[in-house]
Amino acid sequence: MPAASAPSSTRRQLSLHYDELATPDQLSAPERQVWEAARAATAHSYAPYSHFHVGAALLLEDGTVFQGTNQENAAYPSGLCAERTALFGLAGSHLGAVPRIVGMAVAGRPAQGEFTAALPCGACRQVMLESEMRQGQPIWLLLPGPTGTVLRFERLADLLPFHFSPSDLPPRL
Ligand SMILES: [Zn+2]
Repeated sequence: MPAASAPSSTRRQLSLHYDELATPDQLSAPERQVWEAARAATAHSYAPYSHFHVGAALLLEDGTVFQGTNQENAAYPSGLCAERTALFGLAGSHLGAVPRIVGMAVAGRPAQGEFTAALPCGACRQVMLESEMRQGQPIWLLLPGPTGTVLRFERLADLLPFHFSPSDLPPRL
């Protein structure tokens, strides 16, 4: 009897774990600190075109918080999201070793209105992933979800399965 041939395709399943908190009151003290810092940062957003003010905050290993905001431009693609101004701003402002990031939070609101959902775009997810890989230590993340809840992830990599990473580049000659 011939051996069964291998199936030509396999359906696989991805699972993702995150916490959904009904309110920010359930956050720990450091989580609450970075959550509030992201919201406060929205006051410094430059968003005359989208009128959507986004803030991002990074909690560093030494307990300090580094903030970023979306910065738009009349030449639209020249602008940058809050997540990337925070991450690039932190890395770019340290000539020596970049401080390790422990946690991150994002907040967003219309120019006139209440805080709402603010989920990172694909480009930011790519940069967030590499920032985490670069430091070799997971970064937890808090996001305002679509239904007013807080979404808590254990690591930034969870936001970007099947990502492109430095290991996908050809070896350097
Ligand atoms: Zn983005």
